[in-house]
Amino acid sequence: MKEGQVDGLIDSLESEQLKFALRINGTVRSFLSGILIEKGFLEIPPVLFSTATDPLNHPVFDTSFEYYGTRYSITKSMIFHKQIAVQYLNKIFTFSPNVRLEAADKALTGRHLSEFTQIDIEQLYATRDDMINLAEELIVGVIEEVKRKNHDELFSLARDIRTPSTPFFQIDYEEAFKLYGKDFESHLSRIMAEPFWIVNIPLEEREFYDREDPEKEGYLLDMDLIYPEGYGEASSGGEREYEIDRILKRVKIKNQEPEQFGWFVDVARKGLAPSAGFGIGIERLVRYLCGFNRIEAVTPFPKIPGRRSI
Ligand code: AMP
Ligand code: MG
Repeated sequence: MKEGQVDGLIDSLESEQLKFALRINGTVRSFLSGILIEKGFLEIPPVLFSTATDPLNHPVFDTSFEYYGTRYSITKSMIFHKQIAVQYLNKIFTFSPNVRLEAADKALTGRHLSEFTQIDIEQLYATRDDMINLAEELIVGVIEEVKRKNHDELFSLARDIRTPSTPFFQIDYEEAFKLYGKDFESHLSRIMAEPFWIVNIPLEEREFYDREDPEKEGYLLDMDLIYPEGYGEASSGGEREYEIDRILKRVKIKNQEPEQFGWFVDVARKGLAPSAGFGIGIERLVRYLCGFNRIEAVTPFPKIPGRRSI
């Protein structure tokens, strides 16, 4: 390819490291779907656009469009679809491509893309602890599998990855904040040698669908999984609000309108059973396994926030 022809837009395709990352990516995907199917989870196909998607807790550029008089948005996460589907399907997962048109400064973190895929999991009547245990099993299992199947790739990448011991360390959000200040998450991520959980996140930090702890007002029954060695957030999840009164109260606290979440609120009015779940970003997981500095090294067509891409 001639220099300048595509402004470096296909640089990543020329990298030898991409092949290693893609082989590891293959192991990750087949291991995760294999173990979840074995456990009785049903894989549902991804939803790419919808009339209601995740409002997120940080601003991103709008991706909505009109189609035959109906307004849709490209999926930011399948949270609402998961919560509804699981009512009928009991245990589900999906490899869900998400588009979040992140602000350009997010490119500096090395772990943000504007288009990524998460494996998104939800289980009916599950608790946060159930989901913590499942996520730990998946993370430990995937590390062991990659060490078994991708020994050569890890060797070429000079990546020596340690299998974490379970249960992972847990720290309360407020306690971490008190100990290490507002950058506690990146600080802890840098000093820890194994993945760990941040739990009991304050209500205002998260979206309305994460369940408030009935025993600890103002705090959520949720959790973030953080990678060690400075790789930052791996996953977010928790129990869900399922009672309509609580959902409406939480939507109001966020200064949002129930109409924004139209069909989800309508279904919730008819009654939902409790569920819990989490999502693990696949590109972040592969980046961590490969030991890459930047997330875009794991994918041939990375969408780097703020940059032109193909
Ligand atoms: P969230 O529910 O917003 O925490 O997203 C679920 C998971 O998706 C996160 O824990 C990350 O692993 C991954 N993720 C979220 N945003 C991005 C992004 N911009 N780029 C890559 N991965 C992301
Ligand atoms: Mg998160």
